[in-house]
Amino acid sequence: MSTLARSAPAATHEVRNQPPPLSGRDLFADNAPLVEALDREAGTTDWRERLHDAGRFWGGEPMTWGALANEHPPVLHTHDRYGHRRDEVEFHPAWHELMAAGVRDGLHALPWTEDARPGAHVARAALYQCAVQAEAGFGCPLTMTFAAVPALAAQPEVAAEWVPRLTSRAYDPDLRPADEKPSALCGMAMTEKQGGSDVRANTTTATPLTHGGSGAEYELTGHKWFCSAPMCDLFLVLAQATEGLSCFALPRVLPDGGRNAGFQIQRLKDKLGNRSNASSEIELRGAYARMVGEPGRGVATIIQMVNHTRLDCVIGAAGGMRAAVAQATWHAANRSAFGARLADQPAMANVLADLAIEAEAATLVAMRLARAYDEAPHDREAEVFKRLATAVAKYHVCKRVPGHAAEALECLGGNGYVEASGMPRLYREAPLGSIWEGSGNVMALDVLRALRATPAALDAFLAEADQAAGADARLDAHLARLRADLADPAELEHRARRVVEGLALALQASLLVRHAPPAVADAFCAARLGHPGLAYGTLPAGSDTGAIVARHTPLV
Ligand SMILES: Cc1cc2nc3c(=O)[nH]c(=O)nc-3n(C[C@H](O)[C@H](O)[C@H](O)COP(=O)(O)OP(=O)(O)OC[C@H]3O[C@@H](n4cnc5c(N)ncnc54)[C@H](O)[C@@H]3O)c2cc1C
Repeated sequence: MSTLARSAPAATHEVRNQPPPLSGRDLFADNAPLVEALDREAGTTDWRERLHDAGRFWGGEPMTWGALANEHPPVLHTHDRYGHRRDEVEFHPAWHELMAAGVRDGLHALPWTEDARPGAHVARAALYQCAVQAEAGFGCPLTMTFAAVPALAAQPEVAAEWVPRLTSRAYDPDLRPADEKPSALCGMAMTEKQGGSDVRANTTTATPLTHGGSGAEYELTGHKWFCSAPMCDLFLVLAQATEGLSCFALPRVLPDGGRNAGFQIQRLKDKLGNRSNASSEIELRGAYARMVGEPGRGVATIIQMVNHTRLDCVIGAAGGMRAAVAQATWHAANRSAFGARLADQPAMANVLADLAIEAEAATLVAMRLARAYDEAPHDREAEVFKRLATAVAKYHVCKRVPGHAAEALECLGGNGYVEASGMPRLYREAPLGSIWEGSGNVMALDVLRALRATPAALDAFLAEADQAAGADARLDAHLARLRADLADPAELEHRARRVVEGLALALQASLLVRHAPPAVADAFCAARLGHPGLAYGTLPAGSDTGAIVARHTPLV
């Protein structure tokens, strides 16, 4: 080996024209549509401070936790080293950090807690949109816990036992008897191999341990093909009792402290995305459970949980779109090509603005929908609006996410295809909202069901859209076409997606015309209600893309 001192290698190049990291943000403050919607839909300014705290928090260290929880996905331990069943999932510490913070923020319970104030659903929706920008996967158990509470109301003594724990702000991931734990989380198990959308095909059986009926104890035997977050303390499960499909509350640990040994985790799903979250296949071998609600009324009971979960699909989709727009606008603001900033070049400004109006429309619908959940308990019109709007928004907003994520990713060029950018994670997560809790067709058909069963829901929905009547000729024309479409009964099932799209666009355009800056509302009406281009970046000439992009670019 040469004894001559070697000089430091000469630099090959200077790193330049790469955007600075997008970190240390207030995820709430730099999301103008969300800031505006919070006060408007909550009907109070009381939540602002809390949201800024949360925005700063979720824009900090949790961003790293999100990446770590995906790089180190959960691991299932079916057995211990001696061969005893263990049925436990081990998570990276970053997952537990995310969960603890989410529970502390009340993402799993805010509207149900004693300190709930007016606008609690709206505030929670805003909090959730900040948190899911750090990571979406941990939203699953938080959402299910939130959504289980209204379903448990069907069985007051079971609710009395569990709701105080499900709404606690302490996170305790250990599997211990419920009365030894300060808190608990709840999952759901409906889907079986032979049917997920059509849960009537469930074959899992429920056998009463004594006398059957509401609140009674049963043994469940069968399987569930998807059961996410299997480390939850409680599950709402559908199974066939003598009277038909019924809903059951199944604890992982029995009241005597022993494991509910009939709950066995077979394996974890190897999923496209949502990799921080464990989704499992389970076997139920005489697992202990209590009936919730009326025998044979399982779907009617669990539908409360399903609908609140669908609300979160919409909220989560809006948060995911915001994350994508923030990354895309930030990159384009800090990257030049062919001698000019990308954001200043008309073709790119068109793409960014088109992505931005989609995200803004999603945010406005999510927040308006959340208000309907606040109002519904004491307002019949809000109740029927909520019924239809949940299905419409779940279909449309979730359906828009994958294309949106792909286009936002492309704004970063090759960097967007690289894992460290965070864009591949957003892209892999994107289709999920439209699959679970009612896939696209199932949601579109659910809208038709709501239209048939609750005519007042359409009246309430159109009354909301009509609040912008006369303000934009394109929206007026769209509403007229929509009414004609709805009045035509021919091949309605075949046309289901078109009809639902029409309803969703009417609501989004109406909200934007009333509440968004004119540049945003005008571009949306022109591009979505007129002759839409097939790809993002096809806003018509005359759109004020500069103003739209500036509104949506992070403030760092
Ligand atoms: C990551 C992940 C986590 C999940 N976690 C859970 C969980 O925790 N608990 C749980 O119970 N389930 C869970 N699921 C299951 C999920 O809810 C189901 O996959 C979903 O409801 C669809 O059911 P399926 O897979 O059986 O598809 P199917 O019901 O077979 O549907 C297949 C396709 O047919 C369409 N379709 C169905 N019926 C009709 C119709 N009448 N007309 C036209 N088209 C129709 C659907 O839209 C879909 O596109 C999870 C799924 C995923 C991907």
